[in-house]
Amino acid sequence: MVTSDDVRSHTAIHILKGAVVQVLGMGAKWSASAYSQGIHGGLAVQFDRKPTEEEMQRIEEAANQKIREDTPTEVHELARSDAEALWGEDIYDLFPLSAELKFVKVFNIPGWNVNTCGKQHCERTGEVSGIKISKWRYRANKKLLEMSFDVTGINGSG
Ligand SMILES: [Zn+2]
Repeated sequence: MVTSDDVRSHTAIHILKGAVVQVLGMGAKWSASAYSQGIHGGLAVQFDRKPTEEEMQRIEEAANQKIREDTPTEVHELARSDAEALWGEDIYDLFPLSAELKFVKVFNIPGWNVNTCGKQHCERTGEVSGIKISKWRYRANKKLLEMSFDVTGINGSG
């Protein structure tokens, strides 16, 4: 299956986010911003201290481990109240969803990351191929951990 770089790098945001929470804990569960284009992507999460180099390495390793597991991903379309009942505030980010929205699309990597998201995603984590964190910095004044990454590997050639 051929998946576009845009879809791979966007899906990688969800995988990286799951890895961030696994290594840094629930204190890092609020995303402040995210973007992706081509093979490049970025994610910023709220966090109360600067992570160590070792923690950042573990985050990259955990993300790549989840990719190697080739986990099937899920998309659910359901009433917002049902989504909240199932997953609570974990489906949300710091940037708010329109209050009028009564139905939501939820992207779920079971046991790893769940988030309201209407974009296109890989059907399995393995399609992402790999994640390399190219740059990260901690902005103490804003309590933000900012990460830039590239998805690695080429479709079909592993
Ligand atoms: Zn998404």
